[in-house]
Amino acid sequence: MLFLLSMSKNLIIAIDGPAGSGKSTLAKNLAEKLNSVYVDTGAMYRAITYLALRNKIADDEAAVIKMTRGLNIKLQYKDGLTHVLVNGEEVTDFIRTAEVNAKVSDISRIPEVRAELVKIQRRMGEANTLVAEGRDVTTVVFPDAEIKIFLTADLDVRTERRLKEYREKGDSQITFEEVKTNLAERDKIDSGRAVSPLKKADDAFELDSTNISIGDELNIVLNKINKIKEKV
Ligand code: C5P
Repeated sequence: MLFLLSMSKNLIIAIDGPAGSGKSTLAKNLAEKLNSVYVDTGAMYRAITYLALRNKIADDEAAVIKMTRGLNIKLQYKDGLTHVLVNGEEVTDFIRTAEVNAKVSDISRIPEVRAELVKIQRRMGEANTLVAEGRDVTTVVFPDAEIKIFLTADLDVRTERRLKEYREKGDSQITFEEVKTNLAERDKIDSGRAVSPLKKADDAFELDSTNISIGDELNIVLNKINKIKEKV
């Protein structure tokens, strides 16, 4: 299939959904096809969490807020991976650990932390055609995005996919149940928080990826984008 997408307009594609639903894979594939910037907002919340844990202030909300306000956070997508630089320090290798997984949803509940990160994310959208993914990019960060997708999948399927990623990275210890518990706990906190909870935007297109391949999923979304482009 040929996709004729001339990106003359600054197009924003926003993808939200629960943990492990495949948002990153879809967003990366789209960004590659559209030659656009990929914004992994979860990587930013993870970086704050990692630094809060490292500085031993993760349970001190005021200290986390103060720290966040003093940080210069940059995302660079290279070789299939989002690199995160905080005040020039690369923290990429430390933000996807079990410790960060266990704490990130708590840190992400803090409204002042969210406000700081949302500012940075919106700035990225001012100048670029981009594909952003997270928990609030369709509802709060880019409510006027041209394409909004709410990506879901069964919890067991999401767990299997995440477990496969762990195994591929060489982690033979973590179990199916541990992964499943973490995904479910994060979803619960992310959906239940007072500020910017994870939810489907009224005008988002819900895509259940439980039984479809990554290639089919990509084609469904590219078709949607083409339809929008025809109207623009
Ligand atoms: O997408 P990822 O799983 O890396 O996100 C990690 C965590 O960051 C989520 O579970 C959520 O707590 C938080 N997050 C958020 N808002 C976003 C992106 C991520 O609260 N836009």
